[in-house]
Amino acid sequence: MTQPSIKIEHALYALTMDSERRILSDASILIEGDTIMRVGKSSDLEEVAADQTLDARDFVLTPGFVGGHMHISYAHATRGIFPDDLGPDYLPNVFRLQGIMSPEEERLTSLLAITELLKYGTTTFVDPGSTKHIAACMDAYRTAGCRIITGTQVADKSNPLNVPTYQTEEALEITERTIAEFDGELDGMMRAWAMPFSSEYASPELLSGIQKIVNDKDTRATIHHSFSGAAVEDWQSRTGATPTGWLNRIDFLDEDILLAHALGITEDDVGVIAESGATVVMCPPAAVKGGSGTTRTALMPELLDAGVKVALGTDAPNNSNLIETLRSVYLSAILYKDGRQDVSMIPAETALELGTITGAEALGMSAEIGSIEVGKKADLVLFDTMRPEWRTLFNPVNNLVYSADGRSVHTVLVNGRIVVRDHKPTFVDERELIGQMQSIGQSMLDRAGISFRPRWPIL
Ligand SMILES: [Zn+2]
Repeated sequence: MTQPSIKIEHALYALTMDSERRILSDASILIEGDTIMRVGKSSDLEEVAADQTLDARDFVLTPGFVGGHMHISYAHATRGIFPDDLGPDYLPNVFRLQGIMSPEEERLTSLLAITELLKYGTTTFVDPGSTKHIAACMDAYRTAGCRIITGTQVADKSNPLNVPTYQTEEALEITERTIAEFDGELDGMMRAWAMPFSSEYASPELLSGIQKIVNDKDTRATIHHSFSGAAVEDWQSRTGATPTGWLNRIDFLDEDILLAHALGITEDDVGVIAESGATVVMCPPAAVKGGSGTTRTALMPELLDAGVKVALGTDAPNNSNLIETLRSVYLSAILYKDGRQDVSMIPAETALELGTITGAEALGMSAEIGSIEVGKKADLVLFDTMRPEWRTLFNPVNNLVYSADGRSVHTVLVNGRIVVRDHKPTFVDERELIGQMQSIGQSMLDRAGISFRPRWPIL
């Protein structure tokens, strides 16, 4: 069935994120099928008709947000269970819970996670390899109509985290199979990448095999590259190089590699990453909640200065409580100002770029998404500005980054299809879906034998 053409007209502002970063007032956009066909002032598109018209006179229009690292599959069943100070016990519990999920549980929790992502404006996201039953979740991805990058996380070194470990050959086979099965599915809305869990738990043989697969299959890879200062020192004492230096030494870093978190990197590492063409995704909500010292020691400003393309993620709702890219945009704009005591750090405009066009570049997808331009996919977010947090309104970028959040997302389109209208998802009975989560979560906790008592008595 062909999609109806849609004209969005009289938008209060359209933040195009095009190469000139034009902000159009009283803007109109024509969408045909999955593609943006016209962008301009409303007066320029006056004669243009469409099957469907959306009146956007109170709305600020942005490209769909790009989430570079969010583990979507398990968190909605176990949200909020972990105490703040779990420390090294956090990840083993996470992986234990992930490991026991049934395909149907994963389908439902993924659908709710995607519902939350879309409702708050994230239209493209990387699920970094922790979904176990991708085939069972296809129905959720298709129903929601999101743009998803998936994969299967693999490790070939035993680890204390409960990350599943395979023989090197088996890990490579799994990677190859996942890419063959899912890359380009859902009419191209789905990509599959290689996803070695981390360099700590991957042998050089595994990583060079992964790189060969990435080249042969013309896809990409993402890897957790999240090291504290102490872990970097430990790594250096064992290998004589920083983790980044080690990845470079084994020739793993190139423009197809997305490094996730990238905490604990040094200024020399920044140069190595820039030189290699590798890209980075940082997850400010998880970094600050995890007490990583990101405000003082993370090198997002230096990475950007060196020309590295940086995307934003959130990691997981268990860790960061939100899977809202806009929250990462906000944190990026404020954390470094405070940590460096320098208000010129990561301006609001730069933060918004990270969540849209620069994020798309970091994922190698900027030819398709990340800005409102003719020929790009119609992934769009309409923010309702008739809300207290949006007024007064003189500078839409400042209002969006510092004052607004996902609550004002009124309408969302992905690939030319309306997936959120009047704050509600169009593809699912949200209340019914939410109603299923508590029993799934309880069952998972019971099966895993995990429970944490809240600090305050619940009577
Ligand atoms: Zn992760």
